[in-house]
Amino acid sequence: MPAADLSTDPATELAPRILAGERRALARAITLVESGRADHRAQAARLLDAVKVSGRQALRIGLSGTPGVGKSTFVEAFGMMLVSQGLKVAVLAVDPSSARSGGSILGDKTRMERLSREPAAFIRPSPSQAQLGGVARRTREAVSLCEAAGFDVVLIETVGVGQSETLVAEMTDLFILLMAPAGGDELQGVKRGIMEMADMILVNKADGDLKPAAMRTVADYAGALHLLRRRPQDPDGFPKALPVSALEAAGLAKAWDEMRTLADWRRAEGHFDRRRAEQARHWFETEVREGLLARLGADPEIKALMARLGGAVAAGETAPAAAAAEALAALGA
Ligand code: GDP
Repeated sequence: MPAADLSTDPATELAPRILAGERRALARAITLVESGRADHRAQAARLLDAVKVSGRQALRIGLSGTPGVGKSTFVEAFGMMLVSQGLKVAVLAVDPSSARSGGSILGDKTRMERLSREPAAFIRPSPSQAQLGGVARRTREAVSLCEAAGFDVVLIETVGVGQSETLVAEMTDLFILLMAPAGGDELQGVKRGIMEMADMILVNKADGDLKPAAMRTVADYAGALHLLRRRPQDPDGFPKALPVSALEAAGLAKAWDEMRTLADWRRAEGHFDRRRAEQARHWFETEVREGLLARLGADPEIKALMARLGGAVAAGETAPAAAAAEALAALGA
C-alpha cells in the first residue's frame, strides 16, 4: 500500500481537492484512512472533519450475495445504468476473505471493465487488512470521502458470509440481497437475520433457461418477506423481491425506481435521517471502544496484568468474573 504524502497536512491539502471532485485526491485520501499509523489516523480524522462541511449526501447502497451470484456483473450493469442517467457512482468493497488470500476479490477493476473506464465512476477494491473491524472503519470513512467528492450513489459490495453483511447494513441507507434462482428447499437456508436486514431482494439471472426458476424464487422470497414482518421503516408493499438479469441489464431500472421510492419515503417520514444518526452514534461509540482497547493492548503493564489474570483463569485458579473485576479495578474502571 503506498504511503500517504506526509510533506503537508492532508487535512488542509486534500480537502478542497476532494470537495472539487478530484479523483486522485479521493484515492489518496482513502489510502490515508486505510493506514493504521497513529499520525495517519490523526490526519485522517482532521481530513474527515474538514470535508464534512460539504453537507453532501449520497444514497448509500449495500449489496450482498454469495460468490457466483453475480455481484460484480450486477454492479457493473447497475453502475453503467446510473452513469447513463447522469449520476456519479462510487463502488467500495468489504471483503472478509481478502485478509486470508492477501488480495482483493471484490471490486476488482478487471471484473468491472466498462464501469472502471467511466469518468463518472470510481471503483476501490477492499484493502487486504487482517481485521474486519479495520476494514469496516476504512469503508465507512471512504463512504464519507466519496460523498464529499460529490458522488450521488455509493455502492458497497460484500460477500454473503459472516459478519460482513451486518457491518455493511450498518453503514448504508439501503441493504440489498442479491440471490440466485433456487428451489424451494434452498430458500429455507437463508438465515432469518439476513432476511430481516434486507430492504430489497433481487433475484439475479432471470434470463434464458433460468428465468422460470428465477420467477418462482422471486415469489418465494416475496412470500417469506411478507411473513417476516412489516417494519416501521417500510412503506406499504416493502420490502420487495424483484427479478433482475445483470447479464442482460434487465430489471435494473425497475429495481432503481423501487430503491428511490423506498429512500424517498424514508426521507419524508424521517426514517432516513434517524437511521444515519443512529449509525453515526454507533460508529462513534465503536471507535472509542476500539481506541480504548488498542491503548490498553499497547500498555506493557496492562498486558502483563491481563496475561497473569488470563493464566489464572485458564488454570482454574480464579473465576473469570473475579479476574475481570480485579482487572477492571486495576484499570480504575
Ligand atoms: P460474484 O462472484 O457474485 O461477483 O459473481 P460474478 O458477477 O462474477 O458472476 C458469476 C457468474 O455468473 C459469471 O459467470 C457471470 O457471467 C454469471 N452471471 C452474472 N450475472 C448473470 C445473469 O444475470 N444471468 C446469467 N445467466 N448469468 C449471470
